Amino acid sequence: MIPRIDGALCTGCKRCAEVCPPQSIYMKEEKAHIDPELCEECGFCAAECPVGAILIDFPASVNQ
Ligand code: SF4
Ligand code: SF4
Repeated sequence: MIPRIDGALCTGCKRCAEVCPPQSIYMKEEKAHIDPELCEECGFCAAECPVGAILIDFPASVNQ
């Protein structure tokens, strides 16, 4: 799954962009955004975000 970023939580610290291997995260108006064309779905960004603004939606069956 390509992560999604909650713009209301993102502080614009850029840590996610710094750890993204394919550099698929870009900043726009002080918020992080992911280019789905480049994302390799590694999850590094979600692990790095200090405020939990990067969410990965697993299939519903996994969450049960
Ligand atoms: S999941 Fe990996 S490739 Fe995709 S935006 Fe996050 S760090 Fe980058
Ligand atoms: S690491 Fe989290 S708070 Fe920092 S820029 Fe990325 S999404 Fe925003």
